Amino acid sequence: MEYVQTIIDRVKKENPEQCEFHQAVEEVIKTLQPLLEQEDKYSKKAILERLIIPDREIHFRVTWMDDCGKIQVNRGYRIEFNNAIGPYKGGLRFHPSVNQGIIKFLGFEQVFKNSLTTLAMGGGKGGSDFDPKGKSDAEIMRFCQAFMNELFRYIGDHTDVPAGDIGVGGREIGYLFGQYKKLTNRFDGVLTGKGLNWGGSLARTEATGYGSVYFAEEMLKARGESLEGKICTVSGSGNVAIYTVEKLYHLGAIPVTVSDSKGMIYDKDGIDLALLKEIKEKRREDLSAYAREKTSAKYVSIKDYKDGIHAVWEIPCFAAFPSATQNELNLNDAKNLLANGCKCVSEGANMPSTLQATELFLQAKICYGPAKAANAGGVAVSGLEMSQNASMTKWDFEMVDKRLHQIMENIFLNVSQTATEFKDPTNLVMGANIAGFRKVADAMIEQGIV
Ligand code: NDP
Repeated sequence: MEYVQTIIDRVKKENPEQCEFHQAVEEVIKTLQPLLEQEDKYSKKAILERLIIPDREIHFRVTWMDDCGKIQVNRGYRIEFNNAIGPYKGGLRFHPSVNQGIIKFLGFEQVFKNSLTTLAMGGGKGGSDFDPKGKSDAEIMRFCQAFMNELFRYIGDHTDVPAGDIGVGGREIGYLFGQYKKLTNRFDGVLTGKGLNWGGSLARTEATGYGSVYFAEEMLKARGESLEGKICTVSGSGNVAIYTVEKLYHLGAIPVTVSDSKGMIYDKDGIDLALLKEIKEKRREDLSAYAREKTSAKYVSIKDYKDGIHAVWEIPCFAAFPSATQNELNLNDAKNLLANGCKCVSEGANMPSTLQATELFLQAKICYGPAKAANAGGVAVSGLEMSQNASMTKWDFEMVDKRLHQIMENIFLNVSQTATEFKDPTNLVMGANIAGFRKVADAMIEQGIV
């Protein structure tokens, strides 16, 4: 434990103020203890010391012009964390909260998540503090072009393959890809989440949300339970949340909440998926529009949330799907969920639960699917998009969805078998961290001291 603590202290000292990065490292490294005790090769080869420092941290200026002719300046990031098992792979996030520490936590998580998919992908992440909200389509395009004017130097289909994340969907990937092509004169599979007519994969849009529900289904199946007929709560109302709601309906569950940065909707009869898609995917409005159009639904503005409580997690449910952002589910929220009988949490967002909330779920021994396992479906289908691009083929929806389902089943099996191997069978946090780490660490050892 002393060795692990030394590493955590070092991360905090060398990366002051990057609290999300500290949190992600602490969560992973503490659970590796039983493996490190069993095999001393990882400490002898300084694997943890190597893993906590990204291979490369790229930080650049993005200058663009808004519709009023005013020059705007943002910060851009790409953190290439580890490529021991494949090219760097991970999304781009455009959100005003983005900073070096947030991108580093996401990149660190991505290394282990990608390892769990069994596909050949290393870990990376990027983004900008640019806020797409309220921007015109032309402004979004000019920003994406300016961002790519710098990013194109570092990426490539065998080097680093970015994708979407918060604030980066199909539209943004289109503008980014267009500019990459213009600058390089190459049509490479350099980004995933592309349009279906120019290299994108069917089911990529659905993959993270569907995958998180498939993972929940596997956790429950192992305990003889299912989602059918059960009340579920979902947070967020973006890409991951919408397709979580959709898959829950496919499996006969009843999703009753969604949320955004301004508030939440509770619709006791079940979220109206068509209306949700219309408001969020087409009109890009906030969720208060849902309550205006469906008066049976209850809208709670974030201003009315009680201190330290997220209203979504106050709604009684059998299974919860946090699918918005990091640290959106704290200790109070976890207590509320458990007190109301929640039996399953499957994380669609990255690191949505705080360390204390995670600890409580583990103590309660509910089905708890940590993000790096439960939301790996998105990057897995990105990997399948890369395969299709490389072989110049296109698979139909059913084939990609079937592969996604198999991958999520395999991740569950791998993670739960690893948890059992280390004598804590319900602890999928430990199972995911050890299984993800072991593969990357062994690859690093085999590739020598580089
Ligand atoms: P979107 O941008 O499509 O949606 C994000 C949703 O979360 C929106 O409803 C947004 O509300 C809400 N949200 C974002 N930031 C905050 C905040 N600080 N407080 C409250 N609500 C917030 O992103 P995605 O759905 O793609 O991503 C959601 C999560 O899933 C992220 O953690 C992401 O890293 C993770 N993830 C995504 C993958 C993917 O394939 N897209 C893959 C794996 C993980 P509003 O609309 O008001 O901004």
